[in-house]
Amino acid sequence: MSLIYLDNNATTKVAPEVLDAMMPYFKEEYANPSSIYDFAKKSNHAVRDARVAIKDFVNASSEKEIIFTSCGSESANTAIRGVLNMNKNKRHIITSKVEHPCVLNLYQTLEKEGYKVDYIGVNSNGELDLAQLEQAISYDTALVSIMYANNETGVIFPIEKISEMIKSKNKETKFFVDGVQVAGKIPIDVQAAGIDLLGISGHKFHAPKGIGALYVNSKTLVTPLIIGGHQERGKRAGTENVPYIVGMAKAAELAIDSLKYELTEVKRLRDKLESGILKTVYNSRLNTAIANRVPNTTNIGFEYIEGELILLHLSDLGICASSGSACTSGSLEPSHVLRAMNVPFTAIHGSIRFSLSRYTTEREIDYVLDVLPGIIEKISSISPYQEELANLKRLRNL
Ligand code: PLP
Repeated sequence: MSLIYLDNNATTKVAPEVLDAMMPYFKEEYANPSSIYDFAKKSNHAVRDARVAIKDFVNASSEKEIIFTSCGSESANTAIRGVLNMNKNKRHIITSKVEHPCVLNLYQTLEKEGYKVDYIGVNSNGELDLAQLEQAISYDTALVSIMYANNETGVIFPIEKISEMIKSKNKETKFFVDGVQVAGKIPIDVQAAGIDLLGISGHKFHAPKGIGALYVNSKTLVTPLIIGGHQERGKRAGTENVPYIVGMAKAAELAIDSLKYELTEVKRLRDKLESGILKTVYNSRLNTAIANRVPNTTNIGFEYIEGELILLHLSDLGICASSGSACTSGSLEPSHVLRAMNVPFTAIHGSIRFSLSRYTTEREIDYVLDVLPGIIEKISSISPYQEELANLKRLRNL
């Protein structure tokens, strides 16, 4: 079996149609879209059309609400810094303990700069503590940043409910949503969900790495992070990355077309993988239990063994998965997300994220289900926790 890529929350393969759509803008249509001669018309119109495609993707009310960025991290930084710069008199900000580092590390920086920060916790299923959030919002809260779905667990937060909660407590508080892990997996409707700002990243939905977008509703003002020319209506300087913008727009159109497939077929394969593992591997546990999740992600803890060893064995067979977000794997520190969920110490070091895509096949899932029990058995046999494993085996086999 060749490569089996089950790490689509880290990045995705570029869809062939996306690459085809991009190629003319490398080869023939390389004009700067801001130039006034005829030759620039095609690239100018391509950026204009792409902005409409992204507007439709998130259901914004106008394409003027879309800013092209270089990635999800830049979208988050622009949103957060941009909102705070426009509201300098408010000094309180809120986020969750399980955000991606592009939000969490920025919040820690802002804390050092004098902001009062509340970090909202999650329960053992990875679901946000809404009561804690409601209590934290005050007259002084400038911004709440909550991710739409978590990259490690796939757990979806109730964004519409959170927005209503924020607006009922303080109409002036802005709401930024890191939508990177929902784009292409569930429908996004920024208007229905009451979102002020939303960030997405192309490489999570089959566009290349290095392109993202930020939705900023017309009632929200932000300062630019990158200062220079007047591109992006003065919200983000720098000559537009035309081929990548075109590629992301094509990927968004494809994602809309395949949403139903994601919600049915990809979910079916994810559920098959998940229930198959839980049934055949006695020391496995579903870290999120019954929480509402995006259709492609499962996070499974294998008790009393090391996740890195599992990943290496899988890798030997051409299977790619992850033991945390791509940014944290590589260190043996358990992920901040699983720690915030209080995943028991017996499982936290052996937790693996499998994330599928519309390119994942049934044959691939069957193969993983075929080889994984043997891998876990082999690693368990050299674990220093033999007594605990034997007890677990007895308990679970009852
Ligand atoms: N937000 C979430 C939830 C993510 O999963 C990621 C990437 O893993 C990012 C933001 C950052 O996106 P980018 O890699 O495009 O900067």
